[in-house]
Amino acid sequence: MGVKKKITCKSFLDDMSNYIDGDIPQELRASLEAHLAKCPECWVLFDETKQTVEIFQSYNCHPLPVDVKDRLLGALQNQWGEPKK
Ligand SMILES: [Zn+2]
Repeated sequence: MGVKKKITCKSFLDDMSNYIDGDIPQELRASLEAHLAKCPECWVLFDETKQTVEIFQSYNCHPLPVDVKDRLLGALQNQWGEPKK
């Protein structure tokens, strides 16, 4: 209780699809937004992903299939490449 989840770029990406879906607790949402506000790299990735999801949704009129979303996120995570120490 009361433990704030530490948001890194990696954990941001892990939670990003849930964030876009709006399917996360308020507290986590606030943490992700705080990370976005100070991390331009994640902001760019978030913005691109959100637009992609919105395009899919407007064409299909229903949510992006999970496997498409996973592939998209996998591609984004590959962009981050090597883990930071
Ligand atoms: Zn970041």
